[in-house]
Amino acid sequence: MSEQRFSSYIGGQWVEGEGDQADENPADLASPVGHYGTLDAARTAQAVDAAATAFPKWSLSSPQQRADILDFVGSEILARKAELGRLLAREEGKTLAESIGEAARAGQIFKFFAGEALRIPGEKLASTRPGVDVEITREPVGTVGIIAPWNFPLAIPAWKIAPALAYGNTVVFKPAEIVPGCAWAIAEILSRAGLPEGVFNMVLGSGRVVGQALVEHNGLDALSFTGSVPTGHALLKQAAARALKVQLEMGGKNPLVVLADADLDVAVECAVNGAYFSTGQRCTASSRLIVESVVYDEFVARIQARLATLTVGDPLEEGVHIGPVASQAQLDTDLSYIQAGHDDGAELLAGGRRVERGTEGHFLAPTLFAANPSDRIAREEIFGPVAALLRADDYDHALALANDTEFGLCAGICTTSLKHATHFKRHAQAGMVMVNLPTAGVDPHVPFGGRKASSYGPREQGRYAVEFYTTVKTAYTAA
Ligand code: ADP
Repeated sequence: MSEQRFSSYIGGQWVEGEGDQADENPADLASPVGHYGTLDAARTAQAVDAAATAFPKWSLSSPQQRADILDFVGSEILARKAELGRLLAREEGKTLAESIGEAARAGQIFKFFAGEALRIPGEKLASTRPGVDVEITREPVGTVGIIAPWNFPLAIPAWKIAPALAYGNTVVFKPAEIVPGCAWAIAEILSRAGLPEGVFNMVLGSGRVVGQALVEHNGLDALSFTGSVPTGHALLKQAAARALKVQLEMGGKNPLVVLADADLDVAVECAVNGAYFSTGQRCTASSRLIVESVVYDEFVARIQARLATLTVGDPLEEGVHIGPVASQAQLDTDLSYIQAGHDDGAELLAGGRRVERGTEGHFLAPTLFAANPSDRIAREEIFGPVAALLRADDYDHALALANDTEFGLCAGICTTSLKHATHFKRHAQAGMVMVNLPTAGVDPHVPFGGRKASSYGPREQGRYAVEFYTTVKTAYTAA
């Protein structure tokens, strides 16, 4: 397969970075997807300058122009979803079916926000004073920095870039280090979409250099970040120090509760999908399976049997259900948590070891431990195909365990009881709740986000994205 060299995109020009960083294929380390050079702080600052310079004119552009551009981008991504999905599968490692699905979703998000560009909301109210009109309008926030992770390298950039542009902002997009190919593909399409130069910029490089230079630049008006908790919290402090508008999506330790009255076929499918598909590398992954005592042994037997049917391997191969772990660093993290599971006395029920395939890659068997609620594997986000099984005495105990976490992104329950489902929807301390569905797998047109340590700032996606990407103006007119 051909190897490409990926460039950054600044002020309407393709810009070569320094050095030669390999863009690895985690399923086959001998055949990298491509190479790229990294930018330094000065080049990154140029990208923010370009975006800041382009903002005044772009902020007044016609909504129809913005809608047409976003529609073009969405249509092209959808038309090329098989090819883009293949690139994603080779670069990040999720299966081809999952990757094509993600590409399609990215296209749909651009199309959704093409429509939203024409529906920017406002209000007109009666004043408390006679003879005065009050209008509430929304204006773009300005130059937006977008820092994205590697686990959804097409969809997450799409759900940040599309609303940013729809509402009239300019963008500097910094992708994660291990997915420059997907970032380049998005930038390449945007470069042909009719945007004035400087409106969209993409900068390749490390978080420490390029990410920091972006965040520290005074020209930045807002920052949307998805990534790890430590990085998010460090960025929050920097943003607070200079009153930068900020939106953070960070980790999860999402519970899936299985009650005694659940349909166990549904519950096992929800658990396997939520915990292991996309190699468990989703912030909404079901990493804690909380099962009511009465059905615990039956659930263990069924999930062990189901896991035995799953094939780990090259994501491009037919019949593979779980691709490789995305990087050596993530694999090291996963293996260290498997060791922590053993050290804490958790009982290994499945997996727990690397898998050999025909190529050198980061293959890891889906791993399940029977754990205690205090074990590290039951408390800390792992971000791999490693789940902790917890035993609950009854519904109340299960709910308490579900909420016993610093995180609050998504919570799921499998039950046939309307009473328990209704109670759980109300009392689960999470931004998103699933009933008889995997915790991972959300719609693109409704809000996405969590509570507690999982998220900070306004929600992403759907019409709620307007909160972050616009600022409100209240205007009074003497009639
Ligand atoms: P992960 O552990 O999943 O890679 P990170 O939070 O480290 O999560 O990375 C998420 C994104 O944040 C990536 O694009 C990364 O380059 C960027 N990043 C990491 N450190 C910093 C930093 N100090 N400043 C700005 N961006 C950063």
